Amino acid sequence: MSDPLPQGAVIGILGGGQLGRMLSVAAARLGYRTHIYEPGASPAGDVAHQVTQAGYEDEAALRAFAESVDVITYEFENVPAQSLDLLESICPIRPNRRALAVSQDRLSEKEFLQGLGLKTAPFANVETEADLPAALEQIGTPSILKTRRMGYDGKGQVRFSDPAQREWTGAPSVLEGFVTFTGEISVIVARGVDGAVAAFDPGLNVHEGGILRTTTVPSGVPQSLVTDAVLLAAQIVGALDYVGVMGVELFVTPSGLIVNEIAPRVHNSGHWTQAGCAVDQFEQHIRAITGLPLGDGKRYADVVMENLIGADMDRLPALLREPDVQVHLYGKAEVRDGRKMGHINRITR
Ligand code: AMP
Repeated sequence: MSDPLPQGAVIGILGGGQLGRMLSVAAARLGYRTHIYEPGASPAGDVAHQVTQAGYEDEAALRAFAESVDVITYEFENVPAQSLDLLESICPIRPNRRALAVSQDRLSEKEFLQGLGLKTAPFANVETEADLPAALEQIGTPSILKTRRMGYDGKGQVRFSDPAQREWTGAPSVLEGFVTFTGEISVIVARGVDGAVAAFDPGLNVHEGGILRTTTVPSGVPQSLVTDAVLLAAQIVGALDYVGVMGVELFVTPSGLIVNEIAPRVHNSGHWTQAGCAVDQFEQHIRAITGLPLGDGKRYADVVMENLIGADMDRLPALLREPDVQVHLYGKAEVRDGRKMGHINRITR
């Protein structure tokens, strides 16, 4: 195995949101510096060594960015393939391009997962609006039409309750059969340069309006499912020769676990690790991509993570007075409906 990156090395991060911000803090704690590449405003820029504010098509800016860093990672996975080609010709990207390609497109993601023998929701490719009637016939209702690319937090989705319903997302999509689940859990898994794998305890996720509201650990699901969840997450990162942290979102059903989606990055449902583990998901990702040994993922506390979304910020004075509550704010100037402004980790035991 190659040596870990030396102290003072620079980690390039594509995307300057809250995930990049928390990655930068973790990198600094390990003696590394970060360079953020972000087209818009950058909560991560406040805590980084350097920021490039430029579009993902700006070749000169991409080139200069890649030349200034020792490894490139990302907190935003919808960077255009051409830009990644350019970056990769100059500097290694971790996690690798295959992981990105697979997870950027819901169709290739589902095909990849099924190829590993893992269960997904039943699905049909809906390349154009004209494919919709046949897809609805095949999958039935209730079902959800999701854009294949660029969807997040429930955006780019249409729910179908009646086979005669006709609505279109406006872009190539997949129609997914509605899964009747008893709960949603996610596993945050990490794989190192040397192939070592470590997973955190699965958390139980509650969404509101398509946005993650809370993650609770322990999840309360039976131990056999916890084992299944961790094993399938390890299978996924192994199959992709993955380096870094990945979030694997799962539906819990009476017939076992169904994979909803994978995120090739640190994940909102892993924020609880900041209060529950010695090495949290952000440090774990930095350790993985720099070639350091991974933390073991052991959990030392029961935690409920709650996102502070939009007007939740009004609760801040009260939350700051509560014992056992760790507050994380993202430094976003403007409060907007549905915007993630911060989160809290409440230690419950
Ligand atoms: P996604 O953007 O795919 O993560 O979907 C956001 C949320 O919508 C999920 O966390 C679920 O709560 C719900 N959802 C998505 N797909 C399905 C499905 N096939 N069946 C039931 N619920 C779903």
